[in-house]
Amino acid sequence: MRNGIPQPLISHDSSLFSHSSSLIPCSPKQSNMNWEILEHKAARSIDLNEEEVEQLLSLNRAEDLERLYVLANQVNERLNHGVVSFIHNMNVNYTNICEYLCTFCEFKKSADSKDAYILTFEDVKRKVGEAKGTLTEITFQGGLSKFVCFSDVLKLLRQIKAQYPQTHLHAFSPEEIDFYSIETGEPYETIVAQAKTAGMDSMCGTAAEVLDERIRRKICSDKISSDEWCEIIKTGHRLGLHSTATILFGHIEKPEHVSNHLRRIRRIQRETSMFTEFIPLLFMPDKTKLGRAVDSNLDRVTYAFKMIAVARLYFMNDIRNIQTSWVKLGWDNALKSLECGANDLSGTLYNENITREAGGENGEFVPLAKFNSEIKRIGKIPKERDTVYSFQTHYSNISEAGHHACSLH
Ligand code: SF4
Repeated sequence: MRNGIPQPLISHDSSLFSHSSSLIPCSPKQSNMNWEILEHKAARSIDLNEEEVEQLLSLNRAEDLERLYVLANQVNERLNHGVVSFIHNMNVNYTNICEYLCTFCEFKKSADSKDAYILTFEDVKRKVGEAKGTLTEITFQGGLSKFVCFSDVLKLLRQIKAQYPQTHLHAFSPEEIDFYSIETGEPYETIVAQAKTAGMDSMCGTAAEVLDERIRRKICSDKISSDEWCEIIKTGHRLGLHSTATILFGHIEKPEHVSNHLRRIRRIQRETSMFTEFIPLLFMPDKTKLGRAVDSNLDRVTYAFKMIAVARLYFMNDIRNIQTSWVKLGWDNALKSLECGANDLSGTLYNENITREAGGENGEFVPLAKFNSEIKRIGKIPKERDTVYSFQTHYSNISEAGHHACSLH
């Protein structure tokens, strides 16, 4: 990306991207953004429409981007009062065997790969034992394989819950729910209910990628449709399970695909109010097939800042938490993004496999003490959270309590 806007794609794989000319982002051009209207809307929490989202995502001049970040930061300050949250968590990817062919994924392995694994309960205990203190959250997800049955995964989930009853189990993406629904012949609702009974406390909002069929067909054609993703998420919400909402961006999507995605997420939130946060996931192109279709000049960090700012303005009061990722952006850029509308710095994340497999350099572990000291260093208020940001119910007390750090518990 030059000057903050995605550049045209270079297509190397005709089977994947034979129609990609229609996906080439717009050329940099003078913004026709009406800033007065936008500032009026931001000040009064009035909805942005999709056209405005697309205009904002197409901004490329430094002064426009600066204005966007300032506006997003103002809304963030109004909603979150300078607080930056983070969580003590760990990813447990119970298997990396997967038969799907998502073009952005290097995490998956075939069953006969020397690197393929399926975790046992003993493996999980060993991993969790490496964490310092009690984990607040374990994210429990895995590849999709006929070698891993739903009954086995449920058993593992049950064992983990029994061993760590205080730890919130953030489990299964809608894709896994669909996979196990097909395996067992049971409807989504039954699968989600069984997972909940086994110990699942909330649902992962991953596998959304871009909720637009024009993009899904090109990057994850095996996966459920946008409609099915929304249906499964709403099923979880109906059964009392919060979830995150995500977008995978920085590949072949254009502003109209992003606006379509955001519109669907906001609509669900207005029905259920069960999204805890929005997580823009920057695509890591280095070792992936999809990465070969992305312009290597793309200024990915600027695009990430812009996505965070636009999400903040679009979700306004509907989704109060916009997460930034030190795993994807690196620590320093993640801190900078806290000035662009983000208020959550993700988690300690022991063993973040997926990003590293795709070529990301970060993603190992950051201690809680570093979150605290670094957030203070930039003049914000660190606050350790749980999965559902329960401290925010006490928000009215924050300004009275003053700017000091206090942990969730
Ligand atoms: S993203 Fe998930 S479903 Fe797709 S290939 Fe990777 S592990 Fe499999």
